Amino acid sequence: MPTPRSSSLLQRAQAVIPGGVNSPVRAFAAVQGDPPFMARGEGAWLVDEDGNRYLDLIGSWGPLILGHAHPGILEEVIEVMRDGTSFGCPTAGEVLFAEELVAAHPALDQVRLCSSGTEATMHALRLARGFTGRDVIVKLDGCFHGAHDAVLVAAGSGVATFARPGSPGIPQAVANLTRTAPYNDLDTVRAHLEQGDVAAVILEAVPGNMGCIAPADGYLEGLRALTREHGALLVVDEVMTGFRLARGGACERFSIDADLVCLGKIVGGGLPLAAFGGRREIMQRLSPSGPVYQAGTLSGNPVAVAAGRSTLRRLTPDVYADLERIAAAVDASLRGEVERRGLTMTRVGSMFTIFFRDTVPTCFSEVAECDMDAFGRFHRAALDRGVYLPPSQYEAAFLPAILGDADVEHLVAALRGALDAVCS
Ligand SMILES: *Cc1c(COP(=O)(O)O)cnc(C)c1O
Repeated sequence: MPTPRSSSLLQRAQAVIPGGVNSPVRAFAAVQGDPPFMARGEGAWLVDEDGNRYLDLIGSWGPLILGHAHPGILEEVIEVMRDGTSFGCPTAGEVLFAEELVAAHPALDQVRLCSSGTEATMHALRLARGFTGRDVIVKLDGCFHGAHDAVLVAAGSGVATFARPGSPGIPQAVANLTRTAPYNDLDTVRAHLEQGDVAAVILEAVPGNMGCIAPADGYLEGLRALTREHGALLVVDEVMTGFRLARGGACERFSIDADLVCLGKIVGGGLPLAAFGGRREIMQRLSPSGPVYQAGTLSGNPVAVAAGRSTLRRLTPDVYADLERIAAAVDASLRGEVERRGLTMTRVGSMFTIFFRDTVPTCFSEVAECDMDAFGRFHRAALDRGVYLPPSQYEAAFLPAILGDADVEHLVAALRGALDAVCS
């Protein structure tokens, strides 16, 4: 049931904001009912304008691995903010943060900060084109790299939820420079690369924007070998997986030797901050050390950097051990319930998806075969039981590292109840 205060806000929102939301995936287009409006977050929980509480499995779509309103992070952010919010001049915090990123991620010799994941992939792809002198990008169906022209082709989640292949407004001439291939299929990528004009292959190493999909054995190694053989760069978009699947992201967890990586979400600690970086010889081509232009007024602003540094400092080996333990406990309690009802569940670390399909999907077209109507009812049933899942079958749920035993019990009981409500 839509709650009264939330529903009056939705009407007002729809009058002044297209669709009532500032990012399409927040709408409940693919599930039942209306989105509640949130008043605040408390650790692992969301509280809406009517006082309903939800265990939050979105975490602001990935960033909040340590939960909402972490007191220590807030304190450090406020402290820094007292000295000013943005200077447009170099600051010490940026240097310390860049040093921490370079130390944490195996692909990074150098890094440039920006303000969103969309910017990070846009700049990384321009740099790849500038470095190789080639124009074509290969992306994988169902992987999402933000909402800019080069990558808004077969882009999973938001685009698929709203049933639009690409988007009007993207010139055909631009779309023609992006070739796509199914995830987990090396042959199509090889055929694209053999044309000799590919600047970069960009991918989510573990896609989370078509639900959570696992890479097949040898797939990531195969992409690395093929791109190297054909002189194309391998750009791993770790906006979702960076600092989530390990401190060094998917590249650490799966030993990927990326040329460039994109970071966002967790690195900003819930504030607008993202980054891209990689091999020194490539990054040196970036302005002002090289000719490839890239810029941003608020890039590396002290407030976002403080949130990022405070978050990363707290992501110790113990936190990752907790996160794996929590995720394994959820998996152990849930997987049987899911499979008993003829459904499937995927999980990589703290990312997981329950698919309304009887075999595990390995690529976008298989996810598209899920029973979307049943998912929509499941989502509502979970919400009614106090669990906020992402409102689309094409999205991964995120577990935060701060779930206690009682939270896990609540989560499992609510999802079991929601499965009963939909599958009986
Ligand atoms: C969220 C996401 C983006 C876009 O990041 P924004 O900050 O929303 O622009 C890019 N790539 C991946 C893999 C993402 O999950």
